[in-house]
Amino acid sequence: MKLKVNKDLCIGCGACQAVCPDVFEIEDDGLANVIVEEIKDELKEDAIDAKEGCPTNAIEEIEN
Ligand code: SF4
Repeated sequence: MKLKVNKDLCIGCGACQAVCPDVFEIEDDGLANVIVEEIKDELKEDAIDAKEGCPTNAIEEIEN
């Protein structure tokens, strides 16, 4: 699974980083970014929780 953050939608609330800091990070621009290329199996549950919890639906799955 691969995820990306749509920076046009992200409001920098930090929720994704709080839920899954191994995958999401707030960058210098104040917006979130995905810091891993491929989401490892052990992080998928947290990553999906973060995706579903994003208040602006800014986290998108990238089709392989
Ligand atoms: S939860 Fe959504 S809006 Fe909040 S920082 Fe993460 S991607 Fe941005």
